[in-house]
Amino acid sequence: MDNNCIFCKIAAGEIPSSTVYEDGEFRVIMDISPAAKGHCIILPKEHAANIFELSEETAGKIFAVAKKVATAMKEELGCEGINVLQNNGEAAGQTVFHVHMHLIPRYKGDGIQMHWTPQEAYDFAAVASAIAAKIQ
Ligand code: 5GP
Ligand code: ZN
Repeated sequence: MDNNCIFCKIAAGEIPSSTVYEDGEFRVIMDISPAAKGHCIILPKEHAANIFELSEETAGKIFAVAKKVATAMKEELGCEGINVLQNNGEAAGQTVFHVHMHLIPRYKGDGIQMHWTPQEAYDFAAVASAIAAKIQ
């Protein structure tokens, strides 16, 4: 736990939050500035700033939590879709440097923007094999 980290304190229950789900390793809470009603964030109890620092064990479990909560959200909210979003680094839009995963309820025509302009094609095979060579 990092004593300067607000999400560590929320995950540990030291700061109260509207909790949707909790187990030994995660707490899922309502986002304080939601993109839509029911927007949740999944907080690992282990402090890691981002996906690069997160343990493989926790990384392997977080999507199971996402599935569990997203299923309940869909049933309760009646949303037509859910975005699972996870930002790493300021350049990627991360603002709180304790790794977390967003679950954002979506409806057709809701106006939430999450799109990019496709860039020109490049040498996909070369970049794929360069990245592949770095996988440990
Ligand atoms: P990021 O941009 O880092 O992926 O997302 C951080 C999210 O955490 C934002 O959507 C923001 O609204 C939310 N957030 C920041 N501080 C708090 C807080 O103290 N409590 C809750 N519940 N959400 C927070
Ligand atoms: Zn933390």
